[in-house]
Amino acid sequence: MVSACESAKYSAEEARRLESRLEAYSTIMAIAHELKHARRAVALTGAGISAESGLGTFRGRDGLWSRYDPAAVASIESFNQNPSKFWEFARDIGWKFLEAKPNAAHIALAELEATKHLHCVVTQNIDGLHQRAGNKNVIEIHGNIGRVNCTMCATTYATEKIVDSLVQQDVPTCQKCGGALKPNVVLFGEEIPKKTLIEAVKRVRSADVLLTVGTSLEVYPASSFPELAKENHAKVISINMERTRWDDFSDYQVHGSAADVLPRIVQAIKIGF
Ligand code: NAD
Repeated sequence: MVSACESAKYSAEEARRLESRLEAYSTIMAIAHELKHARRAVALTGAGISAESGLGTFRGRDGLWSRYDPAAVASIESFNQNPSKFWEFARDIGWKFLEAKPNAAHIALAELEATKHLHCVVTQNIDGLHQRAGNKNVIEIHGNIGRVNCTMCATTYATEKIVDSLVQQDVPTCQKCGGALKPNVVLFGEEIPKKTLIEAVKRVRSADVLLTVGTSLEVYPASSFPELAKENHAKVISINMERTRWDDFSDYQVHGSAADVLPRIVQAIKIGF
């Protein structure tokens, strides 16, 4: 039997749960309203948006960096010093990236672009899932694992076209000049290509809504984008599983899975409240 005291506790807990659900619901409606009336909404995405596609994040609970030391495996220095060890790590996580499929969060952003509620996506991700979901306007500031470059002659290969070399060679080499190949991603210690960075900054500066999704915003330059957007009086929206130190800076925050929250926002826009 439930005592009077326990039943009071349950109802207080239930009331709190209901209150937080109502709060999240009204935030989602407010975000939908912002996106519906935005002229140039830009999404800034990070590893968290791909978590439900089976790709681990770097930080946050169970992040990849709890298993690997980034400086030891994913820096340009480690690539130059020991490309074979680097490729061992790249193969370990790479296949998963190449096989991953877009999830409901990627599809929701593609739908927002198709219905003209989103101008473009600026992503820190290297998995190419935004394009595979249907987004046309994507700026990849850290590159894309679906391409591989020769470190000597700069020839670019589609990763899927050189799978044999990836499997057979310790350090895959260029078919033209024999140079070592490197995934077309920006490693720690490397600079983002200037043209890409300028383009990303331009889009963020001209945004009237910046929708950050699944990013801890710990990595520069993405960590500076909310402030850049605010200089243009943009509304900053944060959708992330956990709190980040940028939460208090955002106009709206929703804590939850992007694959759950983004489709609800798209739905709210559709019902046209
Ligand atoms: P991060 O790992 O620093 O942060 C990810 C954030 O996503 C965390 O705050 C976490 O709480 C949140 N998160 C986890 N699951 C989520 C979900 N289902 N829905 C919403 N949020 C969720 O990642 P970052 O900020 O992108 O920066 C780190 C670097 O990681 C980037 O440079 C990126 O290149 C690289 N990275 C990319 C991939 C990818 O391409 N899929 C995967 C891992 C890391």
